[in-house]
Amino acid sequence: MDKLLPKTALKDWLEWASTRYHLLGPVEAEDGSRAFAAVSADRLPALDNRRQCASPKEAVLPSCETLFTFNPGDGEPTLVPAAGPFPPTLMVGMKPCDVRSLEVLDRVFLDGRFQDPYYAGRRRNLVTIAYVCESKRWSCFCSSVGDPIEWSLAADVALTDVGEAYVATANTPAGEELLSCSAFREASPGDLAARDIVWNALRETAEPFDPEKVAASVDWEEPVWDAIAEKCIGCGVCSFLCPTCTCFDIQDETIAGGKVERYRVRDTCQFCDFTKMGHGHNPRPSRRERVRQRIAHKFRYIVHQCGICGCVGCGRCVELCPVNADLRGVLSEIVSGNGCESVSA
Ligand code: SF4
Ligand code: SF4
Repeated sequence: MDKLLPKTALKDWLEWASTRYHLLGPVEAEDGSRAFAAVSADRLPALDNRRQCASPKEAVLPSCETLFTFNPGDGEPTLVPAAGPFPPTLMVGMKPCDVRSLEVLDRVFLDGRFQDPYYAGRRRNLVTIAYVCESKRWSCFCSSVGDPIEWSLAADVALTDVGEAYVATANTPAGEELLSCSAFREASPGDLAARDIVWNALRETAEPFDPEKVAASVDWEEPVWDAIAEKCIGCGVCSFLCPTCTCFDIQDETIAGGKVERYRVRDTCQFCDFTKMGHGHNPRPSRRERVRQRIAHKFRYIVHQCGICGCVGCGRCVELCPVNADLRGVLSEIVSGNGCESVSA
């Protein structure tokens, strides 16, 4: 179902939606950074091409959260869950890569042998509104690893900017219900043609990194691993901000009254003690093994384990790595096998 939302009616729509959902969207902070935060009819989401540094992962997998508390003094301690129930939440303005990243997280936390109840509680109450980018940022390569329009159509609603209005495409019953608001108009054939121009432009690809080809080409002995390891300072930014990285650590802390709080915090395979065992052995003792793990996991291991590529081409790691270790160069080297010039430059 396609409808048209005049830009001047966005406020009315959000006001209507706020009676049903807690609203999240891209919001600019005073320092110019952006993150998903509460939005409303009075605080509109920033719907434009700029992709925020923090990913939507924070809404379903917070970087730090208490799992439960218990009193170790009790003979048979009772575990008191800390989170939930989770309110119905509408996330407005997700980029196509953001939408796809939730599918990757779903495969890990929902679709496997075990379900993560904290992730599941938030995810099942989440309705998603994609915003289709009109063009790519210099660091983005979504269409090199997939189809950003297909990803957008996995959201409940996809919004496409056609000038004075958005074409809204509903893809699920929840999306159709959102388009029943009186703020929407019928979309004309001309509106749909304008939308298709945006869609086709986003699909254009500078350099394809067919995930299957990358997966088949990843080799443990690639010289490219040495080239990245030489530059990498092991800061972990590439995985902390990656929308699809899933690793976390679990810690216990004693709190007031002698109770213990068990919480989980984001962790990364780029840290030297990530795989260090209690008796001192570390199977990934050097940066070479650690950078190889991150990329091989995204393009090979997770494809075997979960049937989906672990990179959505959002470009965060490209843009935010302090030593400019550009993943696109690494992928080119892996696929072409031509040495490692673009990585070590
Ligand atoms: S962001 Fe760059 S320097 Fe930091 S761990 Fe990742 S590759 Fe290494
Ligand atoms: S590996 Fe880099 S480009 Fe790929 S999803 Fe993660 S942050 Fe984005």
